[in-house]
Parts: sequence; C-alpha cells; structure tokens
Amino acid sequence: MDNNEKRMVYTQFIDGALTAGSNRESWINYNPADNTPLGEVYQAKDEDIEAAVNSSEKAFHIWRNKTGAERGRVLLKTAEILRYRLEQIALLETQDVGKPISESLAVDVSSAADALEYFGGMAATIHGDYVDLKNAFGYTRPEPLGVCAGIGAWNYPIQIAAWKAAPALACGNAMIFKPSELTPATALELAKAFMEAGAPPGLFNVVQGDGRVGAMLTGHPRIAKISLTGSVPTGKKILAGAANQLKKVTLELGGKSPLIVFEDADIPNAVSAAMLANFYTQGEVCSNGTRVFVQQQILDAFLVQLKERTEKIRIGDPADPDTQMGALISKAHLEKVSRFIDSGKASGATLLTGGIRPEKDFKGRDITSGNFLTPAIFTNCDDSMEICREEIFGPVLSILSFDSEEEVIARANNTEFGLSAGVFTNDIKRGHRVIHQLQAGTCWINNYNITPIELPFGGYKQSGLGRENSLAAIQHYTQLKSVYVELGNVESPY
Ligand code: NAD
Repeated sequence: MDNNEKRMVYTQFIDGALTAGSNRESWINYNPADNTPLGEVYQAKDEDIEAAVNSSEKAFHIWRNKTGAERGRVLLKTAEILRYRLEQIALLETQDVGKPISESLAVDVSSAADALEYFGGMAATIHGDYVDLKNAFGYTRPEPLGVCAGIGAWNYPIQIAAWKAAPALACGNAMIFKPSELTPATALELAKAFMEAGAPPGLFNVVQGDGRVGAMLTGHPRIAKISLTGSVPTGKKILAGAANQLKKVTLELGGKSPLIVFEDADIPNAVSAAMLANFYTQGEVCSNGTRVFVQQQILDAFLVQLKERTEKIRIGDPADPDTQMGALISKAHLEKVSRFIDSGKASGATLLTGGIRPEKDFKGRDITSGNFLTPAIFTNCDDSMEICREEIFGPVLSILSFDSEEEVIARANNTEFGLSAGVFTNDIKRGHRVIHQLQAGTCWINNYNITPIELPFGGYKQSGLGRENSLAAIQHYTQLKSVYVELGNVESPY
C-alpha cells in the first residue's frame, strides 16, 4: 500500500457521485492488523441526509416504473462488476475489518455477488395473485415501499450492504445505506458498481457516520423502512424510533447460539464445525455457536481434537493468503473480548487454550501493534456464567457437557437470543426432532454457519425481526395491494 492509499477519504455517495458532504466532523479509520491509519471518515449531517433522501426519491420514481427484467439486468451487471473486482474489493475489506484475505475473497465479496445474482434473477418473477370471485375477480400487486434505509454492522460490510440492497432494489425500492462507522470502505464500492451497471443516480446512496446518522435515518419521515444488522440494544432503539411513524423494520441482531454434539456424532466433523462456529472472522459472527454442548460420553475425545486443531490455527497478517485468523476490529473491542476472558477465568471456568495476545504471527512476524488474540476454549463451564450468557463477538468458545436430549434442549433454549442453532448426530430422527424444538431461526444439522442465499436468514426471540435472503426477503421489501374488479352491477340496498 502506498501513502496515497493511506490517505483515503471516506465520503458520502449521493446522487451517483462521491461527495464531501457538508460536515467537517471526521475520524481516522484504522487497519486492525497494525493500527495504522487507513483514511478519514466524514460524518453525514442533516443536509446530507436530506440530499440523499431527495435523490433516492427521484431514483425511486424512475426505478419503480421499470420492469422486473430491466431491474434484474442492473443487479446482474452489478454482480459481474463485483466479481471482476473481487481481489481489489476483498483487499479493501480485509484492511478495513482485519479478516483474512482468504475469507474476503471466498465469502464476503462473493456472497454479495451471490445476493445480487439471486435477486437479479428473481426480479422478473415477482408477481401477485389472481383470485376468481364469480362475477368479479381480484388480484394482488406486491408494490415497493419507497426509499428504504439499510444500517450495517462492521463484521461483514459488503455482504450486509448487498443482502439488503439486492432484494430492496429487485422489488423496486431505492436504498440509502449507512455502513458501520468502523468499516466505511466497501459500501462505496458497491455504490460505484451499481452506477456503472446503469442504476439511476440515487438508487443506492451511501451516508457515513455513527449511530447519530442511523437515528436520523430512522426518524426521517420520507424513509419507509429500516433494515438493521447490529446488536440487540441498537435494534431496540431503532424499533422504538420507528414506532412513531409505524415504519417497517427488519432487524438482524446478535446471538448466543447453541451447537449440540451428541455421542453418536462424527467427531472430526463436529470439531470442524465447532471451530467454524467460533473462530471464523476472529469469532466476530452473529450466528456463532458459542455454547458448544458436548454429550458426556465423547467429551474427552472431542476436547483432545478441538484443542490440538485450534492451536494450529495460523494467526497473522490478514493480507497474507496463508493466514487463517486475522485481527479484531478495534483496540476497544479487543479489550472488551479480553475482559470476557478474565470474567470466564474469574467465574471458575478452565481456559483450555488461547485467550492471549500473541507477539509473533505464524511466520514469525511481530504483530504486537495489531488487535490479535489467540482463539480461546473454556471448559468446565456453567450455563449461568457471563461467558455463557452474553454475546462476546470474539474468538471465545465455551464447552458445556450434558447427559440427556431433554436436558440439552431445555438448556440450549434458556436464553433471550434465538438466532441460530446446530446439532451433530448420525441419528436422522434425533437430528430433526431436536432441531424442531430449538428456538432459533437459522439452524444446521451436521454443519454450522453455512448461509446460502437460497435459505432465509434471521432470528427468533430477541435476535431479530423479519428475514433476509431467499424468497422470504421479498415480503419485507414490498407491500401487498389487493384490487377487487367488478364484472357485474353494483348490488345496492339503496
Ligand atoms: P451496533 O449495534 O453497535 O451497530 C450497528 C449499526 O447500527 C452501526 O452502523 C451503528 O452506527 C448503528 N447504530 C448505532 N446506534 C444506532 C441508533 N441509535 N440508531 C440507528 N443506528 C444506530 O453493532 P456492531 O457492533 O456494529 O455489530 C455487532 C453486532 O451486530 C453484534 O451484536 C452481532 O451479533 C450483530 N450482527 C448481526 C448479524 C445478523 O445478521 N443477525 C450480522 C452481523 C452482526
């Protein structure tokens, strides 16, 4: 990276162009791998939000009058541009988030393109129903909502932006997107790609900033819907803020999900899944299975394999293609996760491995300036411990042992969250029986954290409202109009 790139400026993207915006309030965006400055982020002000809403409204009126096939073509072209720029955008994501480049290439940018392809292909098929009513008939029209706002978390910036924009735009809406203040870069790349693909200016605007900007979007009378990916407390604030105007809301929030491993499970596969469920993207994944329930009979064998394989994870420079675990998003977040590790130790859990700040990476390079933490495994945990109740959002796995199926279902459900759940067993009946009783929206049998665009994604209980991905997303970006058409005379008593 040269000095010019280091002096990047993250501005607003309004009406088809990068714009400095009206505010001089700014902050430095740091690379989590070494805490060097990447550039300066400019907080949007009221005037910027007004400009974004005005331009999105204009774009909405053009866009909603296009056919589904025309809209779909723009989405498909946008996906093509993302795939063509895969390496450049993946590197930006890795510098912004601290995740390994192997992940940004294979998952982040690719899954954003998947969403655009899926909803681009679907756009022409979105339709209503015909209902025969004898001397009359009825039909329904799924109509767009208008200008929607997307508000993103920092762990999967471009994926989150695309998971919201693709269905919103396919349905004929316009979108104003606010990335997390910690990851301002790749939403701008998505905005550029939409414009190059032929979207009208304003169809996808980006405003930068912190929660204050999110609150402005939530309260704006000409924004029809808010879709948040973020924490439970932010979800509650947005729901309260949207209540005044009865604005539509989709919330993709946090979790403390269970992964249950029965004694008949394939242990190497279950260990692979437990690692995927806790250490991918440094453990900063909402659906992570951070409470790993292992049936007593196989606990020892499971732990031997888990410890051995976890200690081999290659931590280091996220831009190195051989790296398997990068750096946590910020110093503050590293400290927060470290406090949870202290809390686990203080509450009597055994730290089997990890939980320390490494000085060297797997190639012997000094990494003390970055936000690195070795993947931690706690054993001898108790359901009531803080590390087993609260979302840590870092590489911290807690092992809980259990005896019976009935017991583990009750314990797994004993949480206010309900985002995800996983079950490992070779008994097909037990797999389904247990999954059907778990209070979670996104579940896996004999795998974990696989989120194909074709399946709905979202949470039960306090983990969210609504669904992203799949056909299910369409109903969250449309409103249904019923039309009754009379073919006879009006029957009137008057
Ligand atoms: P966060 O809630 O702090 O912030 C999320 C976004 O909301 C940011 O863009 C932030 O600026 C904005 N925001 C903050 N206060 C706001 C307010 N009052 N009004 C409107 N917007 C506001 O979350 P985070 O730290 O960025 O991300 C981590 C959280 O996100 C974790 O809880 C994680 O589980 C969750 N998450 C959920 C999913 C999912 O799909 N369910 C995916 C990724 C992350």
